[in-house]
Amino acid sequence: MAEDQSLREDEHFDVVVIGSGMGGMCSAAWLASAGLTVAVLERSRHLGGRASHRVRRDAVVTTGAIMIPMGPGSAIRQAFDAVGAEMNMIDTTGRMRYRLAHGDYDLPPGGGGLYGLIEFALEGDVDEAQALFARVREAMGWWTPLDSITMREWLDQYTDNENVKSLFNGYTAALMGVGIHEMGAGTFFQFLKGSSKGSQFGLAAEGNGDLMASLAGGLESHGATILRRTQVNEIVVENNRVVGVRVVTDGQERVISTDYVLSNTGPDRTVELAGGDDAFESSYIARLRTQDHAATIFHVSFLMDRPLIDDLDGSLVLGNNTNLIYLEIPSNISPHIAPPGRHLHTAYGAPVDSANVDYQGELDNTLAELEQNFPGVLEEAEFVVKAMHRGRSPGMHRWVGRTMPVTTPIRGLYNVGDGCTAPGTIGTEGAASSAKLATSHLLERHRR
Ligand SMILES: Cc1cc2nc3c(=O)[nH]c(=O)nc-3n(C[C@H](O)[C@H](O)[C@H](O)COP(=O)(O)OP(=O)(O)OC[C@H]3O[C@@H](n4cnc5c(N)ncnc54)[C@H](O)[C@@H]3O)c2cc1C
Repeated sequence: MAEDQSLREDEHFDVVVIGSGMGGMCSAAWLASAGLTVAVLERSRHLGGRASHRVRRDAVVTTGAIMIPMGPGSAIRQAFDAVGAEMNMIDTTGRMRYRLAHGDYDLPPGGGGLYGLIEFALEGDVDEAQALFARVREAMGWWTPLDSITMREWLDQYTDNENVKSLFNGYTAALMGVGIHEMGAGTFFQFLKGSSKGSQFGLAAEGNGDLMASLAGGLESHGATILRRTQVNEIVVENNRVVGVRVVTDGQERVISTDYVLSNTGPDRTVELAGGDDAFESSYIARLRTQDHAATIFHVSFLMDRPLIDDLDGSLVLGNNTNLIYLEIPSNISPHIAPPGRHLHTAYGAPVDSANVDYQGELDNTLAELEQNFPGVLEEAEFVVKAMHRGRSPGMHRWVGRTMPVTTPIRGLYNVGDGCTAPGTIGTEGAASSAKLATSHLLERHRR
């Protein structure tokens, strides 16, 4: 297995991938299956970054992602397939409940729930619901709005109803970590279009770490080298071209020579590793600096002797709060990931205003809103995670619609991960989509 792999003294790789997050691992899968020699260097002893898990009080608790795309159209599935790796998933597609101030609404299992949700938000006003839904359909069809207005401004044109805005805000905050007053209308509809095309998602039956172990197995069977506890301290660049990486592995510093580097460390860290701002052409740095849009997510996971909601076998998206946006009870879906007789809950909060976050205050309020929604929960819950994903370890490195390109001005250097997702994609799927973009660009050049 990966931990036993080691390097020869003069080893050269076609490609070095820095980091084993979803973007890094999917990149390695496509490149190894194309026959390139690939090394994945991960500073932690765990693979997967924010798509992994840790065992806390005998429960399998996510390091971040919980809803993982798994359908044939998903870049994640395609990367797993490229190296013959299994995805042990429990399909939860369509199992979504929305909570607004006046009640809960279950999406119909067969899809097509958006109209129903709008009618629910409008408390049964069919005429207004049909009029607004017609606008949504137009935005999905002939004319996609532009990002020159926010999604809130787009809604303001057609409705005064705050319940409807809470509905859309809950959706964007839960899925993308930003509110409708921050998200461009075009970006919203681009994402909605992508996600309405029969996307399928689920929970990793044994935890995300199990998925990553499966992908690592597939990589190794295709000849890739995976080194954990290997920290990259420098991307070595000569004449504006990548030539290697300086690492510490087995307590020793050394340089590994390579033709291409795919950095999964986030665009800001990539710049630091490759020599700082001055090493990059200035339009790239200008975009990086003028659009500092990391999305913060608050994460709390806790165990209880009973599930907070007996029949929740998917997601609860909450549009009735300021910070609390999402609840899932993973042990309702895969019971053995919590110890016998215990029930694992995972809840997320998003900041009200991503550019001006009161980190501790809003994490505290996420918990207070959990209590308002489920009186008595704070007394009963045994917390195993209370985390703020922010700054250099954010919920997502950049908001959707504000991402960086996968290519960089330095020859042979790419970024992969959720700082450079393909349009219309987010989170783990966004990270995998960036891997797809970067590896197809790389392979095209490599073959020339
Ligand atoms: C609380 C929370 C909830 C989320 N929920 C969802 C969800 O339900 N569904 C969804 O799709 N997405 C979700 N996301 C987002 C999703 O987790 C991320 O978008 C995705 O996992 C990011 O993958 P990545 O490729 O950017 O890599 P990362 O996860 O950022 O991994 C990067 C890896 O690089 C390693 N590394 C960094 N620097 C170095 C170095 N110098 N040398 C060696 N290794 C290095 C790190 O240790 C890490 O393992 C959530 C995120 C959070 C935080």
